[in-house]
Amino acid sequence: MNLMGLFRSPQNELEKGGKEAEEQGILNSCPRCGVRMPITDLQENLNVCSACGYHFRIGPRERVFFVCDEGSFEELEGDLMSHDLLDFPGYDQKLRNAKLASREKEGVLCGTARIEGEPCALFCMDPNFMMGSMGTVVGEKITRLFEYAAENRLPVVGFTVSGGARMQEGILSLMQMAKTSAALKRHSDAGLFYLTVLTDPTTGGVTASFAMDGDVIMAEPGATIGFAGARVIEQTIRKKLPQGFQTAEFLLEHGFVDLIVPRSEQRQAIAYLLRLHGPGANQQAAGDREEASL
Ligand SMILES: [Zn+2]
Repeated sequence: MNLMGLFRSPQNELEKGGKEAEEQGILNSCPRCGVRMPITDLQENLNVCSACGYHFRIGPRERVFFVCDEGSFEELEGDLMSHDLLDFPGYDQKLRNAKLASREKEGVLCGTARIEGEPCALFCMDPNFMMGSMGTVVGEKITRLFEYAAENRLPVVGFTVSGGARMQEGILSLMQMAKTSAALKRHSDAGLFYLTVLTDPTTGGVTASFAMDGDVIMAEPGATIGFAGARVIEQTIRKKLPQGFQTAEFLLEHGFVDLIVPRSEQRQAIAYLLRLHGPGANQQAAGDREEASL
């Protein structure tokens, strides 16, 4: 062990006690490679580690800021809030803590926006609100967004992050899987486009419903995506799971994800897909076919 470092004076302000600086909110450590970096640098880099490319979890308003045209986002159903319907022990306190931690009223932010000029309906789940767990209000807000999008002929872009169904709401939470799926089927039947962007982690009932129902399924690098946890699966099937199981890269290789796009390229990639599948796309394709047949 090298003790010399103990007697060395700090070279600059940021070097003064890593832990202390982290606690004061000046530095942040990358959970993957351990490199410490100033929070301002991290934010400028879209909350992606510049050393190893690790994508930090981010809140829904940051997503909107990174992806949408400035000032274009208009929130929908922002006042819907969960209540302790089943009198579940400790749920009220958990909801209060989640609101404080996330500064949001619920685990998903919904609205309309433009991405490189392309209009869309948008939902972003919130890892800081009970890890984006899906309760009745999350399901209801997403359902209403799909209904609004179908009525107004808008495509839907959805950023998912979730630990699954919200156990404090029991069966009412599980019901949201069927409800959201039915709403997005009606949106799909109207010939409208739905794009999902799976971020770390997307698991449980959300994976088993609207997260994997996108016409195109995009994922962030390194995201954990799965239904049950790896240990539960291993115990059930009594087999060792392969390396990298339930990562975005593994799912891409096995055909469950269509493309992996780093955060810095998502805005452009989403806008391209919206343009390709937008309201004018069918007429354009028909025109191209007609031209080709002449
Ligand atoms: Zn890193």
